[in-house]
Amino acid sequence: MPDALPFDTDLLDKLAETAVRTGLNLAPGQDVFLTASAEALPLARRIAREAYKAGAGLVTPILSDEEVTRARYQHSTDEGLDRAPGWLFDGVAKAFDANTARLHVAAENPMALADQDPARVARAAKAHSMAYKPAIAAISNFQINWSIVAYPGTGWARQVFPDLAPDQAQAKLAEAIFAASRVDQPDPVAAWAAHNAELARRRDWLNDRRFAALHFRNAATDLTVGLAVGHLWAGGASEARNGIICNPNIPTEEVFTTPHASKVEGRVRASKPLAHQGTVIEGIEVVFKEGRIVEARADKGEAAFLNLIDTDDGARRLGEVALVPYASPISESGILFYNTLFDENAACHIALGKCYTECLEGDDLTDDEVAERGGNDSLIHVDWMIGDAETEIDGITSSDERVPVFRGGNWAE
Ligand code: ZN
Ligand code: ZN
Repeated sequence: MPDALPFDTDLLDKLAETAVRTGLNLAPGQDVFLTASAEALPLARRIAREAYKAGAGLVTPILSDEEVTRARYQHSTDEGLDRAPGWLFDGVAKAFDANTARLHVAAENPMALADQDPARVARAAKAHSMAYKPAIAAISNFQINWSIVAYPGTGWARQVFPDLAPDQAQAKLAEAIFAASRVDQPDPVAAWAAHNAELARRRDWLNDRRFAALHFRNAATDLTVGLAVGHLWAGGASEARNGIICNPNIPTEEVFTTPHASKVEGRVRASKPLAHQGTVIEGIEVVFKEGRIVEARADKGEAAFLNLIDTDDGARRLGEVALVPYASPISESGILFYNTLFDENAACHIALGKCYTECLEGDDLTDDEVAERGGNDSLIHVDWMIGDAETEIDGITSSDERVPVFRGGNWAE
């Protein structure tokens, strides 16, 4: 039976193909662990088909549902919020150890829990993060090829386009997802190869410079971000430790690396709202001293932000710094997606929390070695946008020379 969807399902076919071929670059015989919301089944089914066509061993889907999640926050006891399916995540970690690839379809309304008690949401999120730790380690250490793609869920579409009729909103969000994911182009896989080559050029330039720090400036920001010892820039396609070159995020426009957890100084103001666990946090402003946030406020959603940075000590320190030109397709769309996968690709950003050890030289670093290099550890990893049309960035070398990296919001050259 054909899907009754208010958008072009040929492009959904192409998105499934791009997810499997470019996103995962699935190897013949490899298993796939696929998570999606029930509403995204039209894409999940296409992904399964593409995966088997690409020689997948076994595709194991796990579906979630917004209403089931809501029911929990409405009716669970407080103690119930401390529960998480550790047994499932232990199994997922085992699957990753056996070289299973990981694909996630983002489709739910990121603001679905906006009307729930933030303390209850945070309590459940913390339990989830702790139980998820063994499995997420394989992702943050880039042990296996993984990717995230998006599907236009109806609740999400309503959030992004509140003034449109439901079908129109879904169609409009579909169009924005397809454009940002480059599947509206005649040959998406080739378009991604070209885009990856451009990101690789920027990444290699930054890796050759070996900057000790980056200095961000605009009207509200004067921030120096020291970089981790032996940091590596990454962006676009990169090689997982299992040897497979994949694209972890579709879309992606960023090149990023690991900052030094104790060498961040100055003041920074968010340039776009951050949608975090159901709260829109606007106008974040923080002061860093020796890498740690010592002052924090926000124009809106301040309580949620203060909760977030109180998760643990690492939640007050940086785990990522990323460069995205203001003239990127997602930025030019002018759409606020309320979803980090899209919004982080609209502007330069920083992330509080856990670093990506793939952005450090050397394999199989111990936790102590990561910490010695300046890599941060935390239960959280939350990106927020700091770049705007005026942003200037200098690279600072170890001999204190300054090299223009960004001028007027875009790459200096
Ligand atoms: Zn990022
Ligand atoms: Zn990030």
